[in-house]
Amino acid sequence: METLLVLLLWAAACSAYPLDRAAKEEDASMDLAQQYLENYYNLAKDVKQFARRRDSGPVVKKIQEMQKFLGLEVTGKLDSNTLEVMAKPRCGVPDVGQFATFPGEPKWWKTHLTYRIVNYTLDLPRKVVDSAIEKALRVWEAVTPLTFSRLDEGEADIMILFAVRGHGDFFPFDGPGNTLAHAYPPGRGFKGDAHFDDDEQWTEDKSGINIFLVAAHELGHSLGLSHSRDAEALMFPVYNPSTDLAHFRLSQDDVAGIQSLYGPPTVSPEEPTLPTERPPAGPETPAMCDPELSFDAVSTLRGEKLFFKDRHFWRISYQIPEPEFHLISSFWPSLPSGVDAAYEVTSKDTVFIFKGNQFWAIRGNEAQAGYPKDIHTLGFPSTVRKIDAAISDAEKKKTYFFVEDKYWRFDEQKQSMEPGFPRQTADDFPGVDPKVDAVLEAFGFLYFFSGPSQLEFDPNAKQVTRALKSNSWFNC
Ligand SMILES: [Zn+2]
Ligand SMILES: [Zn+2]
Repeated sequence: METLLVLLLWAAACSAYPLDRAAKEEDASMDLAQQYLENYYNLAKDVKQFARRRDSGPVVKKIQEMQKFLGLEVTGKLDSNTLEVMAKPRCGVPDVGQFATFPGEPKWWKTHLTYRIVNYTLDLPRKVVDSAIEKALRVWEAVTPLTFSRLDEGEADIMILFAVRGHGDFFPFDGPGNTLAHAYPPGRGFKGDAHFDDDEQWTEDKSGINIFLVAAHELGHSLGLSHSRDAEALMFPVYNPSTDLAHFRLSQDDVAGIQSLYGPPTVSPEEPTLPTERPPAGPETPAMCDPELSFDAVSTLRGEKLFFKDRHFWRISYQIPEPEFHLISSFWPSLPSGVDAAYEVTSKDTVFIFKGNQFWAIRGNEAQAGYPKDIHTLGFPSTVRKIDAAISDAEKKKTYFFVEDKYWRFDEQKQSMEPGFPRQTADDFPGVDPKVDAVLEAFGFLYFFSGPSQLEFDPNAKQVTRALKSNSWFNC
């Protein structure tokens, strides 16, 4: 009798429970999916409407984006494979650029970086955490010119900490599972820092969440890498517990990524590090604090200042006081390297870039169609083969082109060269070195760059007011 009762109860439970459970599971999956797409794919937050919106255009698009990034079948639906991946532990850094609003990856402009382990998890002995972080840094050190040293106090480039839930950076952790850690790209302050969710069970092996594996991934972010779509890559966003820890290696994708920012190691790790064997620092990566630094061209762009040098440029602004260093091609793939001159016409929101007898137009990070054009279309005589420097006066709507020891003036409204030019630079800009590499306008002054030196010129008083190093803008 007792058995029968149990069976009856069991049957009753069976008929009622699955429906109820299915509904609850459905709710939980929707919550998870919504949070996942909001957190990692920048889905606009719309808390109440998600279940209704799951088949709407924007949500389907985000689901497709996620499926494509993580190598799933692109169905646009929250199918079981998709929900399964969404439930896996992963990195908290989004798979779309949320940290960087401007394209191009920020990088460290120095090769020696400091790190500090601010606090520890109680899951592991301190020395296990220490050595996991060290080993994680060595992974990147081995394939780049970067070196790391540890600080025990003060502000390091990379501050490493463990925290739960809200920890002061607007990206609260989420308790056990899902988000394991996150890290910020290079820069000052919190930039470069790596945070680990201490609600995870951190382990030295793979019984919990392996500390080394997550640290190596997060430090990849600290050095400037974003997420990779390559499922074999360390920088793939989803935690991979099947990684072979005993024979851990970066994927080709990780190596290519980090070397695109920093290049290969200057000394092969197998070779003895004798100073005589160290190859000279290549001309590829100019040092911004080198007192001999000169620029090819300098321009403003939407309130920022751009300093061009060979294949690279530095950018600074009030928001980014520390210079960021980028490949020109990572912003504007169609632009040449080694440009001659650049200037911004703010009324047109356009920067014009010159090299040889050609010039290009860019608006933000977009190269404009119809370029390059021939400089002679601006009205230069055929004897002019290249421009040395250029600056546009936004108020008077005139652009000055410096060519050898002369300058031309172009009327931006009439779109024609003004009569009476060229004139001698020395006559109208007394004291300025006639060999001008670049010119910049700031605070009502003109700054003339010539090799490693720079002259500040007051256009009203028509005199040089200061002599500076060309890289005085970089707070060296
Ligand atoms: Zn990540
Ligand atoms: Zn954080």
